[in-house]
Amino acid sequence: MSVAENLNAIDKTISKICKKRSYDKHDVELVAVSKRQPLDKIKALLDSGHLTFGENIIQDAIQTWEKSGFIDQYPDLKLHFIGSLQTNKAEDAVLLFDVIETVDRPKLVDAIAKASEKHEKSVECYIQVNTGDEPQKSGVLPADLDDLVKYAKNTNLNVTGLMCIPPQNEPSALHFAFLKTLAERHGLKNISMGMSDDFEKAINLGATHIRIGTAIFGERSSEASSER
Ligand SMILES: *Cc1c(COP(=O)(O)O)cnc(C)c1O
Repeated sequence: MSVAENLNAIDKTISKICKKRSYDKHDVELVAVSKRQPLDKIKALLDSGHLTFGENIIQDAIQTWEKSGFIDQYPDLKLHFIGSLQTNKAEDAVLLFDVIETVDRPKLVDAIAKASEKHEKSVECYIQVNTGDEPQKSGVLPADLDDLVKYAKNTNLNVTGLMCIPPQNEPSALHFAFLKTLAERHGLKNISMGMSDDFEKAINLGATHIRIGTAIFGERSSEASSER
């Protein structure tokens, strides 16, 4: 199947769930995760009319979106950053992305706020929550979320949502339900959760953004596009 056909099939599934749940379909946005995918497949998706994409490495995203000329060719493109962000890359992130989904510490809040001000470019931010309290994983611990939300609001960062990546060995539904509760508690409307294997569950549990890579594009290359 082509990437456009894959997208179409997923779109139908989204519609079905939304209808069953009486959600407005426009409340669920599909972020096509294009990391380590070939440009021709990305181009095919762009030409089918899909304009919202996710990337997890800054250098790679610059290669895929700027150097290719896509950024100029498709002015309505919306790029989401979904990887872990170093403070020294915050400026690059602010310049290229419309949404940064992985804000998880005060230093990063400061760096994004500073770069936004410098370039007079407001970027929508989601806070990544480490819902499984996993020591090796990025994301703020649930216990520290209140403080980080307050901190971010004080710097005028445009925080509109939460994001999570559930632990691999646990049922993701528990984490999705938890993230939804946290988002409601903080009055944040965007909830980014669910990937190729569990996006249906995520929508059922209130996701507003699902991040899907392999189910659209197929398996990823092991090399970054900047190395190819
Ligand atoms: C790669 C990635 C995805 C997409 O994963 P698939 O299983 O290919 O759908 C989603 N979210 C994040 C944060 C990712 O890094």
